[in-house]
Amino acid sequence: KSFKELGVIDILADACETLKFKTPSPIQEQSIPYALEGRDIMGFAATGSGKTAAFALPVLQALYENPQPLFCCVLSPTRELAHQTAQQFQALGSTMGVKTTVIIGGEDQMQQAVALSKKPHIIVATPGRLLDHLEKTKGFNLRYLKYLVLDEADRLLDMDFKEPINKILAVIPKDRHTYLFSATPSKEIEQLQRASLRNPVRVQV
Ligand code: AMP
Repeated sequence: KSFKELGVIDILADACETLKFKTPSPIQEQSIPYALEGRDIMGFAATGSGKTAAFALPVLQALYENPQPLFCCVLSPTRELAHQTAQQFQALGSTMGVKTTVIIGGEDQMQQAVALSKKPHIIVATPGRLLDHLEKTKGFNLRYLKYLVLDEADRLLDMDFKEPINKILAVIPKDRHTYLFSATPSKEIEQLQRASLRNPVRVQV
């Protein structure tokens, strides 16, 4: 199957072609059609499976259809992964003018506050620093967030981000779409799923 056959719109299917994504990977083939129907996704897939595009493409498609600032927030366990994920959103969304910002620890908080005030479409963040901004940065909130992604959720939990994640969940709309990706299932992942997803489609590759 092609990206177009999965329901991906031309501007994004063309971006995939530019990036030399010839055919959808298994995780993309299994999750994108459901995500485009508006379903929440619980995906079990490792790094290297194409999981980033599996969530970035449906988010960008929804953004294209209904452009809005502070549209999607991706929570990443590490600074490095946050940068990689943001790069992939930028690459896939460049022709539609998507604005992405990275909010991670160890970088200047004032500069991040300025970046947030410019109302990016996509925020890729580590949970602790994002929570700092939600608590302290004047004028910044995620009250109109449409999509939340919990990326590498097993590592998010390993790194003790449960508390900031729960606090973030408390201040974003209940009425949103959520994608959770994890390399492996576990009891803790199931708990996080119950706290954050609504009737998800489970996809495993
Ligand atoms: P990820 O699992 O999201 O970290 O992706 C691993 C790598 O595969 C990234 O460098 C992507 O750019 C690339 N990639 C993602 N989807 C595809 C695809 N359908 N075909 C070829 N490469 C892909």
